[in-house]
Amino acid sequence: TFLLLSPFLSLGLAQDFDAAEIPKEKFNYQSDVARMRKIVINSLYSHKEIFLRELISNANDAIEKLRLTALIDKTVWDGTDPLNITIKAVKNEDGKGGKLIITDTGIGMGPEELTTNLGTLAKSGTSDFLARAEGAEGAATGNLIGAFGLGFYSSFLVADKVHVASVPAKSEKYPEPVQYVFSSSSEDSSFEIFPDPRGNTLGRGTEITLELKDDSSEYLENQEITALVSKHSSFSTSFPIYLFTQR
Ligand code: ADP
Ligand code: MG
Repeated sequence: TFLLLSPFLSLGLAQDFDAAEIPKEKFNYQSDVARMRKIVINSLYSHKEIFLRELISNANDAIEKLRLTALIDKTVWDGTDPLNITIKAVKNEDGKGGKLIITDTGIGMGPEELTTNLGTLAKSGTSDFLARAEGAEGAATGNLIGAFGLGFYSSFLVADKVHVASVPAKSEKYPEPVQYVFSSSSEDSSFEIFPDPRGNTLGRGTEITLELKDDSSEYLENQEITALVSKHSSFSTSFPIYLFTQR
């Protein structure tokens, strides 16, 4: 499913994660994550476009998880608000670079899930993967990553900085969900977790903001995004994808 809506007017997007004096909790990546990020960044350079497929696939999984959870617990989703994925390209005013923002209305993550799901590698077979990938050539690593379905860290192929803002679905654990942010730069071996200074802008779900590297500005272009979504995601995604681009 794929729908195209473009362009959008400048909405005065409050995208500043540093706006307020909010204390940020700093964590070091688990050592496996540091190794994994290095492998991804170094060996997949020529396949960097896969980041979009990976992020859309995570968004799709998160919405599917919400839908399935709602079958037994209506408090997470009452069946009324829409389930979709939004891609927004925001060019910088000086015309150089910009941000790509991928949002879903899925199950979301609380601060604990942001820390565990994005800061550690809980997946089975990770150490096997690392051992094989560190001994493999570039192309072989690409295939390995395809087979292991490595996802989120591919963001750092195209982004200097990644911010994941998320609000978990209402549950016993999160009766009054709060929007938290996971922030990390491709340079650091650490990440930060903090309440979103912008407040709860999402309602529920996850928003990934990629501050694109200078050599990755092509992903701000309508045509490029459309081509990638059609190529990698249109048959594997069960929910509508809306694309907003600026002129
Ligand atoms: P995988 O998708 O194979 O589990 P990823 O690296 O792509 O691995 O993602 C790691 C984990 O982070 C996911 O399993 C999920 O728990 C969480 N996650 C990533 N993106 C999202 C999202 N958009 N919404 C909710 N959870 C997410
Ligand atoms: Mg994934």
